[in-house]
Amino acid sequence: MSTEHLDTEDQKAFRLKARNWMQGRLPPRIQGEPAMDWEDKALVDRDRVIQRCLWDGGLAGIMLPTAYGGLGLSKRFSDIFYEEAAPYRLPWHFGNAFNVVMPVLIAHANEALKKRYVPGILKGEQIWCQLLSEPSGGSDLAGVLTRAEKRGDKWFLNGSKVWTTGGVEGDMGLCLARTDASLPKHAGLTMFAVDMHAPGVTVTKLRLIRGNSDFAQEFLDDVEVPEDHVIGEVNAGWTVAGTQLANERAGMARGWHEGVAAAVEASEITPRQSYLTLARELGLADDPLAREIIGELIVIDAVYELTTRRVGNGMRTRSLPPTIGGVPSLMAARTDVRRTALLSALTGPTAVAAPPGSSGLDNGFMRVCTHRIGGGTTEMQLNSVAERYLNLPREPGPDRDIPFNQLRHNALR
Ligand SMILES: Cc1cc2nc3c(=O)[nH]c(=O)nc-3n(C[C@H](O)[C@H](O)[C@H](O)COP(=O)(O)OP(=O)(O)OC[C@H]3O[C@@H](n4cnc5c(N)ncnc54)[C@H](O)[C@@H]3O)c2cc1C
Repeated sequence: MSTEHLDTEDQKAFRLKARNWMQGRLPPRIQGEPAMDWEDKALVDRDRVIQRCLWDGGLAGIMLPTAYGGLGLSKRFSDIFYEEAAPYRLPWHFGNAFNVVMPVLIAHANEALKKRYVPGILKGEQIWCQLLSEPSGGSDLAGVLTRAEKRGDKWFLNGSKVWTTGGVEGDMGLCLARTDASLPKHAGLTMFAVDMHAPGVTVTKLRLIRGNSDFAQEFLDDVEVPEDHVIGEVNAGWTVAGTQLANERAGMARGWHEGVAAAVEASEITPRQSYLTLARELGLADDPLAREIIGELIVIDAVYELTTRRVGNGMRTRSLPPTIGGVPSLMAARTDVRRTALLSALTGPTAVAAPPGSSGLDNGFMRVCTHRIGGGTTEMQLNSVAERYLNLPREPGPDRDIPFNQLRHNALR
């Protein structure tokens, strides 16, 4: 629903500028086209071009500071942009860069890095990825084994990262590495901005059970990183990682490209037609049990969507704290499981074996763990809710105060 009637003069001018620029320049939003598919290089490259086009039209980084190439405008202008952008494809492969990397750079990076990399993202020149999880584990993030050693005025990184979304297409990565193993595990970490094309970075595709390769594993062999590419302070990487994870979880509520989903603040919810189509295809449209299942599917989707919009709106207007982002993340994990169980009850084995794109199923069975694991597992997020909000006793951490090099773990050369 357009809110054009609420526009002030300058908002109207911005709206017309956005409308005129995008018309004929941006590709249409196509029903069924994936927002992200890291294996479809043409789609990823198209998003680079779209982001560049937004930059050229003076429409990139609407709420970001002008000092770093943004427009420094209010949320109202951002909402206007998304209203006008609704018919078009937006550069969703930059979601990580906007939702996770940008807040980290703005909060923690030095001026030189901000002036270089924030405009780099806005111009569509760099896709960023997150180099956090390792083969030895992801939940125990403070236990990373990748190490960074200072030689002269450069850092050299060695180790391996895994489950990197978009790692193959990544140009830059936020990489957490151990810089001082003589300190307790949370204290000796540092965040680096790493050039994914630098010598010594080997990126390997990981093929998933559903056939796609959205993820990569990286091997870092003496990868050279300039001194000024440290984000935040040396040995203060845990604080930076905290900002990173909070923004990743919040990204679900904000929408994956500067608020694309949450910009629509419609009060009504339209039930997904695909459930009804699916029931008709199966000849179950009049079956009472099937109708009950479809009813619950529609309700859980609506409750999730409304909650997400409410949280997203609260975060953007700052009426809710950024940490509230964990709520949609936890809710998505549970909703995915329930939706998949209901679809399985409705369709039987088809729920598992259906090809991608089948109406209503959307290959959901194979993706049921996405929100249960990505951005921190449900168990880890519940731990955090228990400790931070419910003031329950902290999880025992016998290794918390012991120097990392005195702990027993996989080899740390
Ligand atoms: C869709 C998706 C996208 C991802 N993208 C990225 C990315 O871009 N970059 C990146 O670095 N990583 C990424 N990951 C990896 C993700 O962050 C890790 O998989 C996750 O942190 C869990 O780590 P793990 O797989 O090593 O499991 P483990 O840490 O080995 O955990 C195994 C099980 O033990 C449980 N567990 C572990 N510790 C505790 C505890 N203290 N209390 C209770 N339960 C516990 C966990 O909840 C889990 O069920 C992604 C994962 C997914 C699914």
